[in-house]
Amino acid sequence: MPDPSMPGDQDLRRLVQFSSSDGRIWLAGQRMLLVHAAALKSLRRELIHTLGPSATRRLLLRAGFAAGEQDAALARQIRAGRPLHEMFAVGPQLHMLEGAVQVTPELMELDPAAGTFHGIFRWDHSWEVETHVRDFGPQTEPVCWMLLGYASGYTTGFMGRPVLYKEVACAACGAASCRIEGRPVADWPDGEQLARDYDPDSMLLKLESLASQVESLRSSLQAADDLGPLVGQSRPFAQALELLRKAAGTNVTVLLTGETGVGKERFARGLHAMSARKDKPFIAVNCAALPGDLIESELFGAEKGAYTGSAASRPGRFERADGGTLFLDELGELPLSAQAKLLRVLQDGAVERLGATQARKVNVRIVAATNVDLAAAVKSGRFRQDLMYRIDVYPIHIPALRERPDDVELLARHLLQRFTTLHEKAVAGFTDRALDALRHHDWPGNVRELENLVERGVILAGTGEMVDEGDLFPSSPRRGELTVNQAGQLEQCLHGPAATLAQNALGQGVRLDDLESALIQAAVTASEGNLSAAARTLGLTRPQLSYRLDRIKAKEAGSALS
Ligand SMILES: [Zn+2]
Repeated sequence: MPDPSMPGDQDLRRLVQFSSSDGRIWLAGQRMLLVHAAALKSLRRELIHTLGPSATRRLLLRAGFAAGEQDAALARQIRAGRPLHEMFAVGPQLHMLEGAVQVTPELMELDPAAGTFHGIFRWDHSWEVETHVRDFGPQTEPVCWMLLGYASGYTTGFMGRPVLYKEVACAACGAASCRIEGRPVADWPDGEQLARDYDPDSMLLKLESLASQVESLRSSLQAADDLGPLVGQSRPFAQALELLRKAAGTNVTVLLTGETGVGKERFARGLHAMSARKDKPFIAVNCAALPGDLIESELFGAEKGAYTGSAASRPGRFERADGGTLFLDELGELPLSAQAKLLRVLQDGAVERLGATQARKVNVRIVAATNVDLAAAVKSGRFRQDLMYRIDVYPIHIPALRERPDDVELLARHLLQRFTTLHEKAVAGFTDRALDALRHHDWPGNVRELENLVERGVILAGTGEMVDEGDLFPSSPRRGELTVNQAGQLEQCLHGPAATLAQNALGQGVRLDDLESALIQAAVTASEGNLSAAARTLGLTRPQLSYRLDRIKAKEAGSALS
């Protein structure tokens, strides 16, 4: 019998998707497993035999807690805008849907803003009671450990503060049903002792220290971010970083190569930060961003009256970088005349402003970057060979992101932290499905593309929720998946705006014919009677549209007669 005090769970059932073609099951963005109760029974029994009951209890409490936390992140997302108790009911209802236990609320008083909570729930058909009693016979202490951990993890996540449950009656001890009671840790006289059952890394203590963490994060952000995308553990990345480290101790000219977006400027900044020049200026110039006649005065400076409009003398970037590092990005785009001047500066270690008669000594380390093949540019006459030899002394190739897939998750988590701080928005992390999609993306735009996706994800995800695949890749198509219908059977599930529309239409009892007529008439009205345009909007040919319009008219005439 469905509990009248709980809302329908169709919305939750729709979140379960069986993607049998690739061997995965999803609950919204979380990967789930359909596990034999017998497997958990055997695991539980062996744990009790090897670790003893109290260690096993704590282990399972924590495992349940982790599961509850995950479901809490879903609750506000799924039932946004619904009354609070319906939102909270997501937890008990998912717990039932996941097959753990039947939950009947007996008391539910919660006020997240005030931080107050008091809940009493009745449990029937607990899988842990069934399992435990079969293995060990009747008990004197409650045994619904994983279930209890789930309730605590869920409510803690939902309330955003530690809330813990006690199992005040358990069917394993002869009670008719199990019964649990939950309150904020501070409201339990033995709250501290209850909290000790959970890991020091658990949400409980994390929540306590969260505020101070945010503070320290904010202050360290700037420093850490200069080395931001120098985050990675994969072999090709580590090799590039090792080359960079070795160069940092010298004054060698470094040439960074790699696709657009791999983070060449970050590498250049990293090199500067690791070098003895780190307290001197780091100056960057994008050689492709300035027109040919401006780039020379920009790089080398100009004396007053050197060219039309130069009203005052000013130093170029070379002089401004004196003692530090000059980063020449997209060097392959530098015009030939500027190439000749650059070569002279590199040979003489002195720079001459436009219109000047004397050269000035400069002490600058050059880091150049290019995404074009300089040797090919030399062959086609677009780049000076002698300059190439001066620049291409110590090349470092920065791998494309697709060449280091193992780093994607690490980078994504780093960027998530950066953007949640930047946008002052708490986001609970990535769903399993989002991480899966990130791992399988091709990354034509490299780290820069990942940055953009993660920033969009942080903006689109709800506060306190997880970034899901759809927040990162809004048009991601998923087909061939199965969901559970109201009768508990598997059926094909649909995604996207049409599926949403269909759900609304079904909910309001709209008939297929009426839906089709309404859609067609809306398209005709929107295109102001231009049938060709209306057909295009609907993805039909003009004759197909005419045929359907005729049918609608005939039906209307028919119903007017009857
Ligand atoms: Zn129990």
